[in-house]
Parts: sequence; structure tokens; C-alpha cells
Amino acid sequence: MTASPLRLKFVTSAARISQLPELDAEVAFVGRSNVGKSSLINALANTKQLARVSNTPGRTQLINLFTLAANDGAGLVDLPGYGYAKVPGRVRKDWPEMIEGYLLERESLVQVFVLVDGEIGPTPLDQQMLHWLRANEVPHTVVATKWDKVKSAKRSTRRKDLAAGCDLETGDVVWVSAPKNHGIDDLRSLVLGHLN
Ligand code: GDP
Repeated sequence: MTASPLRLKFVTSAARISQLPELDAEVAFVGRSNVGKSSLINALANTKQLARVSNTPGRTQLINLFTLAANDGAGLVDLPGYGYAKVPGRVRKDWPEMIEGYLLERESLVQVFVLVDGEIGPTPLDQQMLHWLRANEVPHTVVATKWDKVKSAKRSTRRKDLAAGCDLETGDVVWVSAPKNHGIDDLRSLVLGHLN
């Protein structure tokens, strides 16, 4: 299965959904800081700098919205990374409220991609996030990053263990490697499938 790189346009950074334009459909990416979210969004778009926009000072703690160049009504949202110790207390406190508000109330949100570090597996924070999404019936897919960092001999076991740690079947988790381009095409197709 092949899909062309997603051509994305940066639209805005917002602290709450009332500041976002209305769209027809959008997907969101969320995960612990350092999980590989920027690398993955850049890989999906086949650029080295797209997600850098979200990483500029002042934007890392905001909801960053991109739309498909070919379709203004279709969005991709880069949510702030969670569990980042250096975030000042006030911002850390505001984070759950902002993200929870977005995840629960954003009408155009059709799917959340929850990134889990494939090398280390789900952390308690990841499990907490998944539990919360399930409890609130927010549709989501787990994406395991850094496939290339798992030794080939351990991949089969790691696939099973990571899925089990997320309370999922092995085949439910999408595995990717940004630098090796592993699984990127499939994820692009999945994203486009949700947006069309
Ligand atoms: P973010 O904080 O979630 O946006 O994470 P980044 O995309 O900045 O990635 C954090 C670190 O992990 C960086 O050093 C990346 O180069 C590295 N990284 C991200 N994805 C992968 C991957 O698929 N494979 C490998 N080997 N390293 C990765």
C-alpha cells in the first residue's frame, strides 16, 4: 500500500478549541514528550521541518493545527507532549484541562493516534491516557514508534508485550520508524482514510 506524503499547511496554535476554525474532520497525535511525535509528523509529510513549527517557543504547550494542502476541511492536530518535567507548574496544571477539553469537545475530531515508545513500551502515563480515552469513548489507535531500535530477534515478543501493556491485540498496534520509513505509508493511508 502506498500513499503520497501528506502535504500539510500550518493553520494556527490555540490554547482552547474556541480558537480553532471549524473543520469537517481531523485526526490528532498525542504522546509522551520524546516519544517521536515530531519525527513521525515530519515523516508523514516527508519534510524535516514541519513539526518544528509546533516546537517553536510558545507553541509547544498549545494545540497546533495543520490542514491538508488539498483539503482545507481536513486537519491534523499536534497536541503537546505529556510528562515533560521541565514544563512550569502552571502550564503543567493547565495541560490536562486543555487537552481533555479538546479531546472531549472537538466535534471534527475523528481519531486520536496515541504514540507509545516502541523501545521502552507503554509508561504508566501512556496507560493512564489510554484508560481515559477508553472511559470517555474517544476513538483512538496506538502507534508504536522507534521500530528500528528494537532488535530483530526481539521484535515478535516486543510486539506482543507492547500490545498487551496497552490492553490490545498484537495486530491492533501500528509500528513505525521515522528514520527508516517503516510503516509510514500504512499510517498515511490510515490517516487519509479517517479524513476522507
Ligand atoms: P517528540 O518530543 O515526541 O516530538 O519526539 P522527537 O520526534 O523530537 O524525537 C525524540 C528523539 O527520538 C529524537 O532524538 C529523535 O531523533 C528520536 N526518534 C524519533 N523517532 C525515532 C525513530 O523512529 N527511530 C529512532 N531510532 N529514533 C527516533
